[in-house]
Order: sequence, then structure tokens, then C-alpha cells
Amino acid sequence: MAERTRGGSGTLGTHVGAVRERPVRQRSTTPGKIVVLLGPPGAGKGTQAAKLASALGIPKVATGDVLRAAVQQGTALGTEAKRFMDRGDLVPDDVILGIMKDALSQPDAARGAILDGVVRTVPQAEGLQKALGELGRDVSAVLVFDVPEEELIRRISGRVVCEKCQTPHKGLEPGDICPKDCGRLVRRADDEPEAVRRRLAVYKAQTAPVIDWYRTHGVRVVPIDAVGTPDEVRDRVLGALER
Ligand code: AMP
Repeated sequence: MAERTRGGSGTLGTHVGAVRERPVRQRSTTPGKIVVLLGPPGAGKGTQAAKLASALGIPKVATGDVLRAAVQQGTALGTEAKRFMDRGDLVPDDVILGIMKDALSQPDAARGAILDGVVRTVPQAEGLQKALGELGRDVSAVLVFDVPEEELIRRISGRVVCEKCQTPHKGLEPGDICPKDCGRLVRRADDEPEAVRRRLAVYKAQTAPVIDWYRTHGVRVVPIDAVGTPDEVRDRVLGALER
């Protein structure tokens, strides 16, 4: 799926993917929905964010994509973020909240948004709630992607991504050309084994508590079995959003 990266001005570019692919199914039941995708690295959040954005006709916001684009462009944001990202640590909350507010203030976010990897700490959940509250909005649902740890490691160790469109691919090698013909495939620095161990530890320590935070704040939290083909998982998610 092709996506538009709206660079924005200055260092805080925003990655809000406008949907060029024809929507799989337009759901009239979901206008304005803000859906948060939570899950460990390798759980398929990025893949599903793109599929859901397409199916629901709403943009996706992926902080990881914004940060990687900033690193690639060598902006001040990218330089600051890179040292955290390469070792598998989280980028500071104030940086993430800046990206998030910028994305939510874009006109197409009025239709709703799929937030991919955006909320990774309790302060980010609080910051998002405050920012949405100021816009008279709220998180509609939090989807928690569940994948066994051995499967996560297997997925990540075989993953290469396009340096341009950032789509992940399996069964191809670094240096190959993206099947969408837009750039070369690279291995993410934070997909190296040591960084992956760190990211999983960071997920358990800092991101998993966000699930309880949402539960205690009355937001609908839906566990998703994220093992299966991307389309199977997408259909489970769409089913869960309809209920
Ligand atoms: P992702 O592509 O979502 O796996 O993100 C890649 C990296 O970007 C993460 O390992 C973090 O270093 C950084 N990052 C992305 N989103 C966030 C966030 N919400 N909070 C902190 N760091 C983030």
C-alpha cells in the first residue's frame, strides 16, 4: 500500500498516511474513531495499521515511521531520536507528544486515526488523553496484539524493510529492491538481536502498564490474536471494532 508522508515544516514531520489503495470495505460505523494499536515489536502493528487505515478510510499515525524518516533526512529530530532508537530504547515522551499533537491537528485526522506504536508509556497515554480532550475527542478502542515471544523473534529476525516506503518484507535480503519498486530493502538497526531483546524488555516494563491504565480509565481494551495471515488478523480486528 502506498502512503503519503507529509513532511511538515521543521523537524517534526508527521506521517499521516492518506489512503491511495481502494478501501477493502468502508465502515460507516467508525467515523472519527481513534484506535490505539498496542503490542510488542514484531506483533504486526505496522502491517495492520496500513490495512486498517485502508479498510476504514482513515489515516494512520506511526511515530516509528516519522522518526525513521527524520533519521533518514538527518534533521535535528532524527539526530536526537537515533541514539535512543538504535539501542532499542524509547524516544522521550515530549518528542512523541509533539509528533502526536501535530498529527492529530491535521484535517484528515478529523475522520479518525489509527495510532500505530504511538502510545508506549503511561505519560504518553495521559498526554494523548489531554490532547484529545482539548479537541473534544477520546480514544475509541485499544487493540492489544498478542503474539508468543518465540514467534516475535522469528518474525523480526527475518524482516527487512524498504528504506523509502518502510513496508516490511519477509524472504528478501538487505540490498534487494522493494517489490513496490520504490527503494532498497534494509535491515532496521533496532532489529539486531541485542536491540530486539532491549525492545521486548522495554515493552514489558514501560508499555504493558499502558493496557491497565486504559482499562482503569474506562477505555475499551480488546485483545487480538495476532498470529495468522495479515488478512486474517485484519478481519479479526475489523470484527472487534464492529462489536
Ligand atoms: P516502531 O517502528 O514503532 O517499532 O518504533 C521504532 C522505534 O522508534 C522504537 O523502538 C522507539 O525507539 C521509537 N518510538 C516509536 N514510537 C515511540 C513512542 N511512542 N515512544 C517512544 N519511542 C518511540
